[in-house]
Amino acid sequence: MASGNLPKLQRKMKKELDAERYQHTLGVMYTAASLAMCYGEDVEKAEMAGLLHDCAKCIPNDRKIRMCRDYGLEISKVELNAPYLLHSKLGAHLARVKYGITDEDILGAIMWHTTGRPNMTTLEKIIFIADYIEPGRTKAQNLPEVRKLAFHDLNLTVCRILEDTLHYLDSGKGEIDPMSRSAFRYYHNLFFETEDKGSSLTV
Ligand code: FE
Ligand code: FE
Repeated sequence: MASGNLPKLQRKMKKELDAERYQHTLGVMYTAASLAMCYGEDVEKAEMAGLLHDCAKCIPNDRKIRMCRDYGLEISKVELNAPYLLHSKLGAHLARVKYGITDEDILGAIMWHTTGRPNMTTLEKIIFIADYIEPGRTKAQNLPEVRKLAFHDLNLTVCRILEDTLHYLDSGKGEIDPMSRSAFRYYHNLFFETEDKGSSLTV
């Protein structure tokens, strides 16, 4: 497996991230490992993706923008308004060029961990969910329910998280990346296509 060296990268993340973010990172890493065990996914890949998912999070926003430009990574209008969103694509890029990750599934999991996307891989779903439910999280709605659901149905959990996140952001608490809406539409349709017993959310 081309995932590199976990303990060594863990030491690097400890230096790269502030204490709170590092703690969150460990939470995501262990939660992702547990979900990988539950769903028969590669546990080491899940740990690696969890460890690196926020590797660009503590870079100041102006520097995130500059680095994306330097690396030729496209910046959308929404991302320019909310540069924290850039930590996903910049993180995926740094994982490749700075931390030596070549596994496309790990890179995809880092890339899509904030917004999700339609038709995610199992590893992408695991990191997306682990980021939301890791033990250090306290603020999101319905956490106990979502945490339990995560170990029963990945797609339904992704759908639920996207719905709760869009509701939260729709109430004016943050910028919405159009990709989150596309992802929600996709996962919502998996369950509620024929008979719409879903949410009242306009997407
Ligand atoms: Fe993140
Ligand atoms: Fe995170």
